[in-house]
Amino acid sequence: MSKPRVLITGGAGFLGSHLCERFLREGYEVICMDNLITGDIENVSHLFSNRDFHFEDRDVTEYIHVSGKLDAILHFASPASPIDYLELPIQTLKVGSLGTHKALGLARAKGARFLLASTSECYGDPLVHPQSEDYWGNVNPVGPRGVYDEAKRFAEAMTMAYHRYHGLETRIVRIFNTYGPRMRLNDGRVLPAFMPQALRGESLTVFGDGSQTRSFCYVDDLVEGIWRLLHSDEALPVNIGNPSEMTILEFARTVIEITGSGSDVVFKPLPVDDPKIRQPDISKARRLLGWEPRVPLREGLVKALESFRERLVKAGELPAQEA
Ligand code: UDP
Repeated sequence: MSKPRVLITGGAGFLGSHLCERFLREGYEVICMDNLITGDIENVSHLFSNRDFHFEDRDVTEYIHVSGKLDAILHFASPASPIDYLELPIQTLKVGSLGTHKALGLARAKGARFLLASTSECYGDPLVHPQSEDYWGNVNPVGPRGVYDEAKRFAEAMTMAYHRYHGLETRIVRIFNTYGPRMRLNDGRVLPAFMPQALRGESLTVFGDGSQTRSFCYVDDLVEGIWRLLHSDEALPVNIGNPSEMTILEFARTVIEITGSGSDVVFKPLPVDDPKIRQPDISKARRLLGWEPRVPLREGLVKALESFRERLVKAGELPAQEA
């Protein structure tokens, strides 16, 4: 019997590369598609020797063709950090809209199950706390983050339309802040900003007064939640994230402590439309998937730290003896 085959768009990104590894471990043949705008071939280069792994340098907003069968498509292609949306606003809108449409069309043609990487950004700057899936959100469509938020909201609507109109098997995961090895250095997100700053002994750049909250999930927990969701029969969105919430100032202090750094913090202006609070309500994931996060923040941060340290050494930004 031939192996199951999965297409992972954005497979060379942070989350995509961890998903490629998981599906290979589960006995899948994996087709990793990425145009490498924000993804990095280094994230998957260790998989090239695996005969079940195939990489395709392709833009999913154009017509996509994959020969042979496909059992599942995971649509993870998208810029994913606020500075990327500012730099790539049109690509961000295109990959969420046109890219989702192309990936859904391919899923329909192949009779494959489709899973959309959606986001807690669908809730915008939330007026309900914690956020459960039935909250419709508070999004500014014309602000700088709107290109991501609205593209993902459109992607959810398109996915539900394929489900309802074409009877396609679809899943939607709303991903909350996730961290771990292989986040792009200097991608502007908070951990890739804080960890290198702490390791270099620079001040940590806390935006605003640092009282805004986030809830951070370790990547392995997220991947487990996505795996379970794909195999469930829930078509409506499911939050996957870690409900343990903290302020960004507390997060900065925790990073300083974990890295053993002498850094302090410096306050910078808060980006436009930066959500003030964010915490996933994961009752639905608990109930339907029997899932909850397992990795405590400090343990996850130590694992992420190694990866950041290694890459800073490789980039010549830290001396090798500190590695
Ligand atoms: N942030 C910060 N300093 C940085 C980068 C980000 O204080 O150098 C803040 C940012 O304003 C936000 C939080 O950290 O309140 C999380 O930002 P990130 O870009 O990681 O993700 P978001 O949840 O905003 O999409």
